[in-house]
Amino acid sequence: MFTNALEEVSVDCPYCGETIDVFIDGSVSEQQYIEDCQVCCRPINFVVHIDEQQTVSVNVFHENE
Ligand SMILES: [Zn+2]
Repeated sequence: MFTNALEEVSVDCPYCGETIDVFIDGSVSEQQYIEDCQVCCRPINFVVHIDEQQTVSVNVFHENE
């Protein structure tokens, strides 16, 4: 049912602290990628984990962390 669903998640930018909304691909349980902040345009390192209950947890890091 949730397969391939896009989950909308709010995260705080590690650079400017603004809350930004990102869409997570719910079909992939472990993901890591870089996406530029929508506010300050600096590259945020996203680490995403989705468990069996489709609970999405997102951690964000500075590019160099
Ligand atoms: Zn930012």
